[in-house]
Parts: sequence; structure tokens; C-alpha cells
Amino acid sequence: MKSLLIFAQAVILSAAPFVVAAPTLPPTAAQQQALTPKGVLAELIEGNRRFVEGRPAPGDARARIVATADGQYPKAFILSCVDSRVPVEQVFDQGIGDLFVGRVAGNVESVDQLGSIEFATKVAGAKLVMVLGHEACGAVKGACDHVELGNLTALLQEIKPAVAAVTGYAEANRNSKNKDFVESVIAKNVALKVADLRQRSPLLAEMEKAGRIIIVGALYSLHTGKVALVSP
Ligand SMILES: [Zn+2]
Repeated sequence: MKSLLIFAQAVILSAAPFVVAAPTLPPTAAQQQALTPKGVLAELIEGNRRFVEGRPAPGDARARIVATADGQYPKAFILSCVDSRVPVEQVFDQGIGDLFVGRVAGNVESVDQLGSIEFATKVAGAKLVMVLGHEACGAVKGACDHVELGNLTALLQEIKPAVAAVTGYAEANRNSKNKDFVESVIAKNVALKVADLRQRSPLLAEMEKAGRIIIVGALYSLHTGKVALVSP
């Protein structure tokens, strides 16, 4: 039985299409410098496609550890929710040394995240900032339901502007039981956080204006594994 299984795996491997052209090592300083913000976005979208199709690029974690031990030149900063179903590097088929990742429930920008993003871009050279929300976000549901719990109460306040900005629902339907409402608030929250980054960080806004970075919003589908950009 075991040998049959190995045989089956060998057949599957040999039949796998040889189309993966993803970098197997993280960028060097020179490679990072040569990247464009739009090129990085295209790389991440392509990586997500590999993830969705179940054919991640061959990775060698050991080689990446060795390559990055004395320095890092990541491509992007992803501001994500803490949700266990959104493993950021995996979702974009990236490895050690490729991404900065800031995670906080509801992917909101605190001053700590802002400082981290400024470091990642201005000091460490990342070219793209992405706010990544996701389907059925528990933090957003909590904000919709006006949950109060310890320090979570203050965190959920950061999502309340998105709840207020979604209109067109009767009061009785403005809660987490209404999937449409929740998904609208999730998308609005991402759009508002992108706007907040530009507004609260003149440094990021200037870098974007100068074409050194781009700031985008995106949503992750728990059902398909797909990342879709949110239009501003
Ligand atoms: Zn979430």
C-alpha cells in the first residue's frame, strides 16, 4: 500500500507543470532596489495564484535562513488581522526575508503599526504597503455588535468608523448576523485604513507621491484562499 502511495506521488510530481518561476531566495539589497512597487504587487498576486492553485514554488528554508542572517531586504509590508486562517506568507507563497508582517485583530493601524510600516519602507526599503482584511472577520463582527471586553473594547473603537460609514441597512440588520452588512464593513474598514495610513503618516504619503511605494487594500477569501484588491 505504502509503495503504491509513493508511486502515485511520483507520478503526480513528474506530471506537475513546470511553470513556476518564483524566486527561491529572498531579494538581495540590489534586487530590492531594482523592484518597482507595481512589480512587487504583481509578484504577490502571482504568489497568491500559486497558493490558490496548490502549487507553491519550491522553497528551501535553510538556504533562506543563511541568505538573510546578516541582513534583510523585504519587498512589502502586509498589515493583516491575527486570524489563524490567514497565514500571510503562505497566502502569498512567500518565504523568509520576503515580507514584513504586522498583525493585529481587525488590521487596524495603531501608532506602533504606523512606526513599523515607516521603518519597513523608509529605512528597510519595502516598496509596497498592503492592508489585508478578510472574510468573516471576528474583530469586525465584534465592532458591528458593539462588544465590550477588556482591552478589546478600545481596539474595536478603531473599527467603529467603518461600521458607521456603511449605510443603507435598517438598524435591526446592522449586526454580525447580517453577512452582507459584515462583509461591507470589512471592505470599508480596509479602505479607511488605507486612507488613514496616508493621513496619519506624512512620511508614507510623501513616499507614495514620489513613486517610491504604493499603498493598497485587499481582501482574503476564507473559502477560496484568493486575495482581491479593494478599489480605493
Ligand atoms: Zn479578522
